[in-house]
Formats: sequence, structure tokens, C-alpha cells
Amino acid sequence: MIPYKSSWMDDELELFRKSARRFVQEEFVPAEPRWREQHRPDAEAWTTAGATGFLLTDVPEEYGGGGGTFSHETVFMEELAGAGVNFGSSVHSIVAHYILSYGTEAQKRDWLPRMARGEMVSAIGMTEPAAGSDLQGLQTSARRQGECYVINGSKTFITNGWHAGIVSLACKTDPSMPGAKGISLIIVETKDLPGFRVGRSLEKVGMHAQDTCELFFDDVRVPASNLLGPVEGRGFYQMMEQLPYERLTVAVSAVAVMERAVEITTKYAKERRLFGKTLFDLQNTRFKLAECATEAHIGRVFLDSCIERLMAGTLDTHTASMAKYWLTDKQCQIVDECVQLHGGYGYMAEYPIARMWADSRVQRIYAGANEVMKELVARGL
Ligand SMILES: Cc1cc2nc3c(=O)[nH]c(=O)nc-3n(C[C@H](O)[C@H](O)[C@H](O)COP(=O)(O)OP(=O)(O)OC[C@H]3O[C@@H](n4cnc5c(N)ncnc54)[C@H](O)[C@@H]3O)c2cc1C
Repeated sequence: MIPYKSSWMDDELELFRKSARRFVQEEFVPAEPRWREQHRPDAEAWTTAGATGFLLTDVPEEYGGGGGTFSHETVFMEELAGAGVNFGSSVHSIVAHYILSYGTEAQKRDWLPRMARGEMVSAIGMTEPAAGSDLQGLQTSARRQGECYVINGSKTFITNGWHAGIVSLACKTDPSMPGAKGISLIIVETKDLPGFRVGRSLEKVGMHAQDTCELFFDDVRVPASNLLGPVEGRGFYQMMEQLPYERLTVAVSAVAVMERAVEITTKYAKERRLFGKTLFDLQNTRFKLAECATEAHIGRVFLDSCIERLMAGTLDTHTASMAKYWLTDKQCQIVDECVQLHGGYGYMAEYPIARMWADSRVQRIYAGANEVMKELVARGL
């Protein structure tokens, strides 16, 4: 087979991939079992990644970022996913893009450099116990009092919640406005903030190395200047505008995991012996792996076209929703087939394919459940 090369890859990105791979293998892979046990990465993982230039790679250099494009983000995400490391740098990048798109110059200069250095880890605070897919029903309130907002409420399932020094918080600033209209995004700096509390790291089915937490706000006061955007009530529309970027980050890891699953399962099937031959010699195995490899390749080509369009500024919500739903569905199907081909070993946590299986499942739920994605696709038909 002639190896396929993504259209957006070039020599500079090949070098960047090499150093990202070395970084992930040397710095993250040895520490990852400890992260899984403690249910969060070490705080130093963030500052090391920042110091080595792997955070906010697509944020302009004048704000401390890498000055690259989404292709740099993609390469780092692929290396993390390929190594089976759960690290919330893509969520961190999503928050940076909220600030880049809607922040004032002063806000960008204040927060982005500290985020790029990994000194300040960021989180997205949208989901609440009673408002997930239906974000218009969120209850967390931010009441304006003089030069402050007073915030009350709680968020759940928040990635990077334990380490988060900065939260892009979706709140109701005008309870009298129905649905989306009264929602705003407010940046909350959490360090030594009275009334702010992080709950426990939630016990999950997979992604054990990632800190997924509840956040509580009890009369928390933040400067009114932390509002994102010129006026209140823009939060829902800001979230909708940024969704193609967020959805594509999920799609990138979906394809990286599919490709890795096919690769390690092919290797395993060629080594595993049964009935006097290898597992790979059985026609069922060959057909299953041929199907998985074909679907992973279709996924890669579709993803590459979405990446190109995102970088050109032409990726619409409908196509991004197609990518998020289809690629994560395929990820789960392919990884499940690969577990089956591993037999009992595929169910043992020490085997990477077992961890991929447990880690993959949530991809169909977060960043907008796949059913919501299909609704959005259908709306564009
Ligand atoms: C590991 C993990 C990390 C997360 N990280 C974050 C984070 O960093 N920040 C954050 O804000 N949130 C985060 N979330 C929350 C995530 O985005 C929500 O779980 C998701 O949006 C679904 O909301 P819900 O769990 O309330 O489910 P519900 O909204 O109660 O939906 C339940 C199910 O109903 C179905 N459904 C929903 N809407 C429709 C529809 N319109 N049509 C048909 N069927 C539908 C779907 O099958 C869906 O799975 C995370 C969740 C997990 C599990």
C-alpha cells in the first residue's frame, strides 16, 4: 500500500509530530498510570507541556501561543490519542478560542499567556445536573451588583475541573429572558476565590487519568469586566459559534483511536496462534480487519476535509456535527470489533485495546450527544 498523507501535513508539521511524539512518550506515558490512580494529571504536566510549546499551539504568538494553526493542535491531539493518554489540552484550547474570539485586548493579554505556559489550566463550565443537552435550561445565575457579578449555582462533569484556574462559565445573567437569550459567558479565575469549591473527581467508566469534577459557586464575586463580549446575553450564541472547533477536536481523537486500534489489533492477530495458525489467517479476522481499516480510512479522508475547511474558515456547524457523530460512532464500532479479536485479553485493563474501549464510549455523549448532532444535521437538509 502507498502510505496516505493528509493534505494539511507538511515538513514543518512532520518535525512538530516527531517532537510531540517524543514529548508524549517521555513525559506523559511513564506518568500516566499514576494519573489514572489519582484521577488527574500532575499539575507539572501542564507547566511542562506549556514550557515545551505544546499548549495553545494555534494561538497567536503575541498572546503567548505557538502561532500555528489547527493542524498543530491536531498533531498533538493525535499523538496523545495514539499513546492512549487522556490529557485535557483540547478543552484548554477551546477556552482559549472563546477568549480570542470574544475577549477584549486586555482580557487576551491577561489570560492567554498564563494559559499557554500551563500556569493556569482552563475548563468549560456549561453542563449542570439538570441541564446537559438542553443548555437553555441552565440555572446558574450571575447577578450584577455594582462592579461585580455574584454567581450562584453548580456545574457537573467538568473536564480539567480539579486543576482549573480559569473557567469559562455559562450563566443566566437575565432570568427574565426566556431560553438562550439571558445566557452569558463569564470568565471565573478560581484561585483563592471565596465561595468557589471543587467537588470530588468523578469515578468514570474510562478516561481515568482526566479530572472530571463538579464545581460549586456560592455567592462567588467576580469583576464585571470578566464578561465575554460587549454585552450580556450573547453566551448561547458564542457557544454555538465555537462548536465546530470543539466538535472537530473530538473527531480528531476519534480517527486517531480508530487507526491505532486497527494497527495494534493487526499486530496482535499476526502473533496470536490458534488452531495451528495465526488469528490473522482466519478469514473472519481478515475480513473484520479489512472492514475496520477501510472505515478508518474513510474517516481519515472525511476528517482531513473538515480540518482543511476549519482552517479556511468554512467549516459549518452541520458538517462539524456530521463529523462528530459519524466518526465517534465508527470509533466505538471499530474498537469494539478489535476487542472481540483480542478475545479475553481484550477485556484486560493492562491491554491498550481494553482501555481504548472504555475511553471511547463517552465520545458519543459529550460535546453534544450524537442524537443532538443528527438533529443539527437534519436541520440543514
Ligand atoms: C467524561 C465527561 C466529560 C465532560 N466534560 C464536560 C466539560 O468539560 N464541560 C461541560 O460543560 N460538560 C462536560 N460534559 C457533559 C456533557 O457535555 C454532557 O454529558 C452531554 O452534553 C449530555 O448531557 P447530559 O449528560 O445531561 O444528558 P441529557 O441531556 O440528559 O441527554 C441524555 C440522552 O438523551 C438523548 N438526547 C438528548 N438530546 C436529544 C435530542 N435533542 N434528540 C434525541 N435524543 C436526545 C441522548 O441519547 C443523550 O445521551 C462531560 C461529560 C462527560 C461524561
